Amino acid sequence: MMQVLVVGAGPSGLALALLLAKAGIKTTLLDAAPKLDDRPRAAHYAPSAIRVLKAAGVLEDVRSAGLIPNHMTWRKVDGSVITSIKDVAQPSSPDALTVLPLNMLGEVLLRHCEENSNVTVLWNKKVMDVGSDEKGAWAVVEVEGGKEERWTADYICGCDGANSQVRKSLFGNEFPGKTWDAQIIATNVYYPLDKFGYDDINFIIDNEDYYMAAKITQDGLWRVSYGEDTRLTPEEVVAHQPAKYERMLPGNPKPGDYKLLNVGPYRIHQRMAPAFRVGRIMLAADAAHLCNPFGGLGLTGGLVDVGNLAECLVGMEKGWADDSILTKYDEIRRQKYQEVINPISSDNFLRVSATDPSQALVKDQFLMMVEKARTDKATREELDQGVFAVCHDFTQYYTKAGREASAAARL
Ligand SMILES: Cc1cc2nc3c(=O)[nH]c(=O)nc-3n(C[C@H](O)[C@H](O)[C@H](O)COP(=O)(O)OP(=O)(O)OC[C@H]3O[C@@H](n4cnc5c(N)ncnc54)[C@H](O)[C@@H]3O)c2cc1C
Repeated sequence: MMQVLVVGAGPSGLALALLLAKAGIKTTLLDAAPKLDDRPRAAHYAPSAIRVLKAAGVLEDVRSAGLIPNHMTWRKVDGSVITSIKDVAQPSSPDALTVLPLNMLGEVLLRHCEENSNVTVLWNKKVMDVGSDEKGAWAVVEVEGGKEERWTADYICGCDGANSQVRKSLFGNEFPGKTWDAQIIATNVYYPLDKFGYDDINFIIDNEDYYMAAKITQDGLWRVSYGEDTRLTPEEVVAHQPAKYERMLPGNPKPGDYKLLNVGPYRIHQRMAPAFRVGRIMLAADAAHLCNPFGGLGLTGGLVDVGNLAECLVGMEKGWADDSILTKYDEIRRQKYQEVINPISSDNFLRVSATDPSQALVKDQFLMMVEKARTDKATREELDQGVFAVCHDFTQYYTKAGREASAAARL
């Protein structure tokens, strides 16, 4: 039976372990931290990622803890509507876009891993180096007290996030792409934006005060993510937040008018590793590629990666595919980043931060399409189907018997 080592017990690593466990593959996750990361990051998972969460067996729990948003609206900073996608989540679809803060998603995934005898999650295990040859793969791990351990497996999957040590062991500091000249401040706040007419997802287009405001929990917590000058230190960002809120949010709230839970500054990047496979070591999610958070393609793309990686490893375990399917994984997932995730997420950021809002409906092709979709069914269908462009079915590379067995399992 194949043994897989996953580096990183973040959402992508945990989801991968559950997908492999379903096929009987034993997976050990090693994480450097003492517990789940609870910083305010992802919250929105597109239908392509929802399919992966469903395959991992966690969707019911994600849905009962989370919410399905109503409309997605682009606005000027005075709150007036530019255009809108009604019922953006396609609520009647089984793949409906779902919202759940990352820390809560992590808790659901971890609980399922802990209940699964094929998955072992180990904390305080910092991977320092990885390598592989034709017989197997290994990881050098620093444990508490500074001691080193050597772990072996048939394959290693690097799901260890943006600063991935697995990626660095393979490519040093090579991580081609760019860093935007902006920092994004992700805040979680109780402030009833819906009372001011805001929908569940709002993008405010403004060269100075651009932001995204979205409802992220059933009890009315909102994520407000806005841009700041990169010269501000984390302390200056925190000190500036009340003035920024008062200027840009409807109702011009002062600190006593809202309950602020988190303020998290992030530099934002568009970067992709030179390859997603070297020998018996693969990269997935943030370890493999990064994008800015506008449009929620980061973890969505990462979950689609691990869904595909699981298809490859399960196919190999069952004898339906040989090792060359992992080279396909490398080729196709990099292509999806270059052709879908990178251009769309870059456009999403430029749309809010560098577009003249008064010209948006005549100059921005995407918003022109959104406007058309309000009355034209075929355009709306095109928009709805567009969210699956990041997907790829790796079972098509299985043997005939494998294709039939996986198609039957999907029914
Ligand atoms: C403000 C913001 C908002 C976002 N919103 C969205 C959104 O709405 N939708 C969306 O899809 N994406 C969003 N994203 C992106 C999303 O949060 C990330 O893509 C996602 O968290 C990446 O998951 P991961 O599992 O790859 O990595 P991580 O979540 O970073 O997990 C990596 C894990 O690896 C561990 N680790 C690191 N180094 C080592 C090591 N050497 N040894 C062992 N373990 C190690 C860490 O402790 C951690 O547990 C957002 C990001 C930001 C910053």
